[in-house]
Amino acid sequence: MDEKKHIPKPSKGFVKVKCEGCGNEQNIFTAPASTVKCLVCGNVLAESSSSMGDIKAKSVKELK
Ligand SMILES: [Zn+2]
Repeated sequence: MDEKKHIPKPSKGFVKVKCEGCGNEQNIFTAPASTVKCLVCGNVLAESSSSMGDIKAKSVKELK
C-alpha cells in the first residue's frame, strides 16, 4: 500500500498578505516577476525567484 499523500503545491495565483511594517493588506501575485513592495510604506512583501516567488509578508489568505 502506498500511503504517501501528495501535498498540493500552492498554485500560482494571488494571495492577500499583511504588511508587517504598517499592517496594510495587499493582494500580491505568488510568483512575481519582480520585487513587490507595500504600496503604503514600501516594505518588501515578496521577491521574485527562479520558480515560485518568495513571499516575505504574512499571507492572510489565498485568493482564487
Ligand atoms: Zn506597509
